[in-house]
Amino acid sequence: MPGDKKIPKEYALKRADELKESIKDYLAFSKTVRTGFTEWEKIKKRQEKIRSIYGVSENKWRDWRWQIKNRIQDIDTVSRLLELSSSKLEEISLVGSKFRWGLVPYYLSLIDPEEMEKHPVFLQSIPSIQEYEDEHGVLDPMFEEFTSPAPAVTRRYPDRLIINVTNQCASYCRHCQRRRNIGEVDRHTSRDSLKAALQYIADNEEIRDVLLTGGDSLMLSDKTLDWILTELEQIPHVEMKRLGTRVPVTLPYRITPELCEVLNRHLPLYINTHFNHPIEITPDARDACFALARCGINLGNQAVLLRGINNHPFLMRKLNQELLKIMVRPYYIFHAKGVKGTSHFRTRVEEGIEIMEKLRGYTSGLAIPTYIVNAPRGYGKTPMLAEYLVSMGANKLLIRTWENRILEYDNVNYDEDITL
Ligand SMILES: *Cc1c(COP(=O)(O)O)cnc(C)c1O
Repeated sequence: MPGDKKIPKEYALKRADELKESIKDYLAFSKTVRTGFTEWEKIKKRQEKIRSIYGVSENKWRDWRWQIKNRIQDIDTVSRLLELSSSKLEEISLVGSKFRWGLVPYYLSLIDPEEMEKHPVFLQSIPSIQEYEDEHGVLDPMFEEFTSPAPAVTRRYPDRLIINVTNQCASYCRHCQRRRNIGEVDRHTSRDSLKAALQYIADNEEIRDVLLTGGDSLMLSDKTLDWILTELEQIPHVEMKRLGTRVPVTLPYRITPELCEVLNRHLPLYINTHFNHPIEITPDARDACFALARCGINLGNQAVLLRGINNHPFLMRKLNQELLKIMVRPYYIFHAKGVKGTSHFRTRVEEGIEIMEKLRGYTSGLAIPTYIVNAPRGYGKTPMLAEYLVSMGANKLLIRTWENRILEYDNVNYDEDITL
C-alpha cells in the first residue's frame, strides 16, 4: 500500500517549508491591518477630546444610557466632533432627510480623522450620497412583511422564529437590512405585541428556538429582557433563546455586571453580534465579550460582506482570527442584500466564495463561518459553498484540496460485493 511506505524525513521538512512559505504574504498583510488594539492609544486620546467637548467624566462616558442620550444624529453635533467639509455636511443632511442616521460617541471615537471618509466605521455610520442615489435596491427584499404570522414575529423556518423587540439601535448601520423599520423615533415593541408574539409561540409547539432581535435586542432594559426571557422559559417547547445585538461592537458599555447577572439566569442563551472589521475589536469590546462568555453565553458573529470595508480575503481572515481571540466564534458572513440605499456596499457572490476558499485550510476551522445569500421572497438563508468534490464515480471521488490539488479518493462500500 502506498500509504504504508516509509517516507523520508526530508519530505516532511520540505512540506513544512512549503507551508511556511505559503503564509508569508498573509503575515506581511496582517502586520499592516489596524485593529482596535493597535490603535487603542490613539482612540483613547480621541475619547478624551470628545469627553472634554461634552464635559463628562470617564465614568459618565462608560454609562451606556449617557451614550444613547448623546447619540450623534444631527449636522451641528457631528461637525463639532469630526472635521467635515461643507459639501459632506450637505450630503449628510440631504441623505438624512430620507434615511435615519446616528451613532453613539464611543463608536464615533473609533474613526481616525486621517483616513476619515475611507474609514470602516465612518463608512458604516455616516450617510453617503450613494444611498440617496441608489436606483437598484428595494425596501424589503426579504419579504419580511409577508412572513409575519403574528405581531413582531418573522417566521421563515419550521422550528424557529424571530421576535422584533425594538426598532432602536446604539448606532444605525448604513448597510442596515431593516432600515424600513428604523423610522425616526425610538420605539420598543409594545407589551401587547410582545404578549401576542409569546402567545403565538405558545400555540405552536414546533417552535423550539426563539431569537430576539430588532433593532438591537440589548436596547431593552434589563427588566424587560428579564421579563421576556422568563416568559419564554415558561413555554415547555422553547428549548433555547438567542439575542441579536450589535452592542459589543458599537456600545460595549451596555454589557454591565447587572445585565450579565440577568442573562446568566436564562441559560441556554446564545448571542450573535456583528463585527465587520478588526478596527472594531478594541479592549472595551473584548471586555464586553469576555464578560458575556464568563456568564455562560456562547457568542457568534454575523459579518456582512461590504465592498470597501471587508471584501478582501486576508482582511476577513484577520477579522475572524481576531474574533476568536475575544471568544467570538465566526458564524455567518452575509452577502449584502439588495436593500434600497445600500447597493454601493454590494459585491458579487464570486468574491464571497473566493474569500471562503481562502479561509479553508489557511486558518483554524473555528475561524471559518458560513457564507450566506438570503433567497428572494423570504425563502431563507442559502449557503454559497466552494466546491471541493470535483466528481463522483462508482467507487472513486475526485476531490480538490484547499491548495487546489486534485486527488482521487477511494469511496468503497464494504457492504457491497466489490469483487465484480
Ligand atoms: C436568520 C433567521 C433565523 C435564524 O437562522 P439560523 O440559520 O438558525 O441562525 C431565524 N428566523 C429568521 C426569520 C431568520 O431570518
